[in-house]
Amino acid sequence: MQLLAHGGAGGDPNDAETRQQQLDSAVEAGADAGADGPEAAVVATVRELESSPRFNAGVGSTVQSDGVVRTDAGLMREDGTAGAACSMPGVEHAVDVARVVAHETPHVLVSGENAIALADAFDVATDRDLWTERTRKCWREIDPPGSDDRREHLRWVREQFGGFDTVGAVAVAGDRLAAATSTGGRWYALAGRVGDVPQVGAGFYATEHTAVSATGAGEAIARFGLSRWVADAIEDGADPAAACERGIEAFEAATGDIAGVIAVDREGRTGEAFNSDSMQTGSSG
Ligand code: ASP
Repeated sequence: MQLLAHGGAGGDPNDAETRQQQLDSAVEAGADAGADGPEAAVVATVRELESSPRFNAGVGSTVQSDGVVRTDAGLMREDGTAGAACSMPGVEHAVDVARVVAHETPHVLVSGENAIALADAFDVATDRDLWTERTRKCWREIDPPGSDDRREHLRWVREQFGGFDTVGAVAVAGDRLAAATSTGGRWYALAGRVGDVPQVGAGFYATEHTAVSATGAGEAIARFGLSRWVADAIEDGADPAAACERGIEAFEAATGDIAGVIAVDREGRTGEAFNSDSMQTGSSG
């Protein structure tokens, strides 16, 4: 089993050491669960990170402009099985709801109150307090700049909140692959905004040859289809390292925005690339 996880395209640099420890222990938990295959490994990894207040997923997620924390996640396997769920207040383990959608429904994406009802029906907890000390402080101090300049806005977000710190994982074991990504979205987004993370081919993607997870500016990632772009490059013969590098270059040229991406292929080769200041990853295998 080869497993690779990310903690977002540029988290708070002052917290890098603790975040790295948590990424490494999440990967360890994922590798333990990997006896049941790559899907179990990526879900276990992402679940651990959703429970950490240091990442933008589950507990510690960003807050939308109406003061509500809503979570999103998506997962996919090499056989095309895919599920995603979004816009869920009170759901710590959005990845568990994505898994329910993938395996228990004929659908790919379920949202809002109906996703919560589905989670309830399959015993996924939906009554969690997702606020943390850090998010309370950020919310109290929020004062976004009036500018339309995206880079200025992103700089402001990074200064205030530590940048993009969505979580994701990819894994391969033999001919089986899986990818999962989970997030609270973007700070101060419109209530009900949904980004790339629960969109197939944007925040996550898997084929018979590769599994990919992305992070960063969700609207740009969705428009560009970053995970699908990288997967297509691997399908065309690129190794994952080159595919990720080229994907980020093409993404930046097309959108001028910020993202990071990780990938693994069927041979167990991994790749990662980002155009943010940093992207923390952890791996096993
Ligand atoms: N991609 C996420 C979103 O836009 C944010 C992140 O990567 O931190 O919802």
